[in-house]
Amino acid sequence: MSKEQNEIRNKANSSSRPRFAGIKTFMMLPHSQDVQGLDFAVMGLPFDTGSTYRIGARFGPEAVRSISALIKPYNAYHKINIFDYIKGIDYGDLNVLPGYIIDTYEAVAEEMRLFMDNDVIPVVIGGDHSVTLPELRALYKKHGTVALVHFDAHLDTADSYFGKKYTHGTPFSRACDEGLLIPEKTIQIGMRGTYYGEHSLKESTDRGFTVIPADEAFDMGLDNVIKVIHEKVGTSKVFVTFDIDACDPAYAPGTGTIIPGGFTSREAIKLVRGLSGLNFIGFDVVEVLPDLDPSKITSCLASNIVFEFLSLIALMKKNLSRG
Ligand code: MN
Ligand code: MN
Repeated sequence: MSKEQNEIRNKANSSSRPRFAGIKTFMMLPHSQDVQGLDFAVMGLPFDTGSTYRIGARFGPEAVRSISALIKPYNAYHKINIFDYIKGIDYGDLNVLPGYIIDTYEAVAEEMRLFMDNDVIPVVIGGDHSVTLPELRALYKKHGTVALVHFDAHLDTADSYFGKKYTHGTPFSRACDEGLLIPEKTIQIGMRGTYYGEHSLKESTDRGFTVIPADEAFDMGLDNVIKVIHEKVGTSKVFVTFDIDACDPAYAPGTGTIIPGGFTSREAIKLVRGLSGLNFIGFDVVEVLPDLDPSKITSCLASNIVFEFLSLIALMKKNLSRG
């Protein structure tokens, strides 16, 4: 693709037309499935039949896209206009087969090869948390084992659920079993609530993962949480997965399995911003359930988290260009 074509594609943004107008893509990015010459692609993964409780996250991508019209390209915290450093598209949604998780996993991992083959960083909007497994499978084929930063109220490291291995409560057990992760560089933040027993908590630590429960995160302070993440991950390639229920239900009511005592929206954004400097290879935000989100605060928060992800990519490219 020529430089001019790229420039045209990146002109579509919130200053080119009123933000309430037009067909909604993420941040009014051009909708395209031509991924050549791009830094990132935002995509939906509207699969929610891995959910064990309330379903509806299949409508997450469309809700996050819709409210993302509010987002402008300048990140005042990082002092960066993201489109000065990165170009990207809204790819649309990956193909899924509702109700058929194993088939969906195969289809998603296959379709995502497009991004891997073209060195495009995927930024995925779920879907329930089961969708992260095929993303990690696709990334493994290009990058090998990776570090993981996982924000969530839940560990998602159950071995199985009613005897079944693939649900939104098991993706990181499977990712570990399949050798997709570096366990000592896998860190989980924000866990809280009630458990089946003490053994539930060990399901992560027995695998070598680091867990910072919400209570601990508040006691040690978020700056120290950020420090631990950087110490653990170092310079390894890292995937970031953000389950919106890491945030308190007061800030993110539109999700399937709410637990009190989570991060405020302000704290969530601070944590994501604190990841700056890591070696990112992909991101997702999951578990947004628009039917339970009448004021759209949950999808708004998710869309801002996606913007912070894009800002992290922009900062990474900016630093690379400086050598
Ligand atoms: Mn989760
Ligand atoms: Mn969760």
